[in-house]
Amino acid sequence: MEIVVQKFGGSSVADTEKLYNVCKHIIKEKKKGKKVVVIVSAQGNSTDDLIKQELEITKTPNKREHDVLVSVGEQITIAKLAMCLQKQGYNAISFLAWQIPIITDSNFGDANILEIKTEKIIEQLNLDNIVIIAGFQGIDKEKNITTLGRGGSDTTAIAIAGVLKAVKCEIFTDVDGVYSDDPNKNKNAIKYDKISYDKMLVMANNGAKVLHNKCVELAKENKVKIVVKSTFKEESKGTIVE
Ligand code: ASP
Ligand code: MG
Repeated sequence: MEIVVQKFGGSSVADTEKLYNVCKHIIKEKKKGKKVVVIVSAQGNSTDDLIKQELEITKTPNKREHDVLVSVGEQITIAKLAMCLQKQGYNAISFLAWQIPIITDSNFGDANILEIKTEKIIEQLNLDNIVIIAGFQGIDKEKNITTLGRGGSDTTAIAIAGVLKAVKCEIFTDVDGVYSDDPNKNKNAIKYDKISYDKMLVMANNGAKVLHNKCVELAKENKVKIVVKSTFKEESKGTIVE
């Protein structure tokens, strides 16, 4: 079976209208006969809002409890997206990381993925479900909730694409690909049609925010073909990273 992994970041899922827009990209792959696994971030600035709420209590939170709190946003997105798809007649089911499970080390706030079990995902894909998984979070061996670091949903998506041997991992964002410089600040920035993992890695380490740096390394190791494209353009070819 041909599996496609799609990841939608916070700005792509910020409100209900945007969730329905995300559905279009998912349904497009579904109609091509692909099995689709979707990874989502928390809506809009909701992770920042959770951190603000935490700061009302303490500047030095217990690290375990910090992760319990900041992982919450993604739970809201997975449920809402599943409902939007179901409303349009598609079978969809949502999962938190512990339900898969996505097992990490216990480095709260910046955990590393150790293992992802594929049985549940495959079982649900075989039932013809669109599988929606919360990004950014994991569970350690003692069953504590962990998070992968800010922007970590990219890493969830690449890791899942790797274990499922997906044909591609599409990272949907608010720019239509990878640029030589920030296109909002530099009008002369050029968009790449294709770049290598190594070049992407250098750019991510130099602060290009388009991809979480951990995820580029992971993609290189597991030979995951990444396509960075715009959520808001119907026909964005984006940039291929491979
Ligand atoms: N929601 C998390 C964050 O804001 C993870 C992500 O967006 O990838 O950092
Ligand atoms: Mg991001």
